[in-house]
Amino acid sequence: MIQPARASALTLADLEAMDRDDPLRALRGAFVLPDGLVYLDGNSLGALPRETPVRLQEVTARQWGQDLIRSWTEHDWIGAPQRVGDKIARLIGAAPGEVVVSDSTSVNLFKLLVAACRLRPDRPVILSEPGNFPNDLYVAQGLQGLSNGGVELRLASADRIESAIDERVAVVLLTHVHYKSAAVHDMARITARAHARGALTLWDLTHSAAAVPVDLNAAQADFAAGCGYKYLNGGPGAPAYLFVAQRHQATTVSPITGWLGHARPFDFVDEYAPAPGIGRFLAGSYPILGIAALEVGVDLMLRADAQSRLDKSRALSELFVALVESRCAGLGLEVASPRDAPVRGSHVALRHAQAWAVMQALIARRVVGDFRAPDLMRFGFAPLYNRYADCWHAVEILRDVLQTAAWDRPEFKQRQAVT
Ligand SMILES: *Cc1c(COP(=O)(O)O)cnc(C)c1O
Repeated sequence: MIQPARASALTLADLEAMDRDDPLRALRGAFVLPDGLVYLDGNSLGALPRETPVRLQEVTARQWGQDLIRSWTEHDWIGAPQRVGDKIARLIGAAPGEVVVSDSTSVNLFKLLVAACRLRPDRPVILSEPGNFPNDLYVAQGLQGLSNGGVELRLASADRIESAIDERVAVVLLTHVHYKSAAVHDMARITARAHARGALTLWDLTHSAAAVPVDLNAAQADFAAGCGYKYLNGGPGAPAYLFVAQRHQATTVSPITGWLGHARPFDFVDEYAPAPGIGRFLAGSYPILGIAALEVGVDLMLRADAQSRLDKSRALSELFVALVESRCAGLGLEVASPRDAPVRGSHVALRHAQAWAVMQALIARRVVGDFRAPDLMRFGFAPLYNRYADCWHAVEILRDVLQTAAWDRPEFKQRQAVT
């Protein structure tokens, strides 16, 4: 942990020296980042890899344009979900054949929740926490609505989750790194507790994959899903992925029994028969352009040494917290994320009574984070392209915005549709 006293002695030159020594330094150049922009929102929408437009040009102009339908086999479009899934598996502690790229995170959560509940037919409860990303609760509520009273959603706060796992719980649905606070759940411990009580786990990895250590198989996790457009840099609305532990694959089915999850889709028979492995969780034709862009982001992530990547994520957020505490004291800010780096994800939430207006003023000064109602500013640290010096500039501008009340202008108080 960087102590505030040490942080207050740091200079911009120190941080620039850290950037020069950064083993991942060269990877920043692989991204398009506008000059002078301090982009701290890679946890909402990752930056554009330089290679992505080139790859999309290849897949559209040559594969789609010239080779047309033959591309499904000649360019292995048909195998893309599993090929890219196998690459993502390396980032989340899964084995080949346990991860597939498909649909959106929301749809994947639905498919996996149904699959998990069917493995525990005499247990009605999906257990989650209040304040989980609402989407995940909404998806569970949708399933509850479909089940004619067969499924019940129970919420228990993070510190009560383990004791709330009883013999009525079929599946524990949690977001590994909390989308607001960045608090990290102990995946191995909660999974062990769930298994001891006969329940299963489904982990939402949207804010953890590639940003904090994730080892699904070491934790013996049952199911997981995550998205492609945050730390994986797959582009807006990128296809998502899902994980089903090998041991469950033969006994689980997707509720969306589409033809590309069929064992022999091109037999065109009337009766559904699930594909043998993770492929059974595919439904319809997949977005080849989206998967092509996602693959570029995942390949870039795999180019970074895993330990350097995780160390840097942690060092960046730690530096940011220490700089905020040492340079913004007395300015009405509160660090709303855990202070202890090992239980914090790769973003930091700061609470301020005027969080929305302050964030708009920061964005006007070219420091981009985001806002989460009612009073949080989030700053995400992406190890492949953020620099230590970015933390410095962000905190200096934040301090100035607060000291001069630069946020206190009508145009910064206008709420927009997307926050
Ligand atoms: C971003 C996010 C999602 C994304 O779901 P989509 O289906 O891609 O919209 C899901 N869960 C959490 C916790 C998120 O932060």
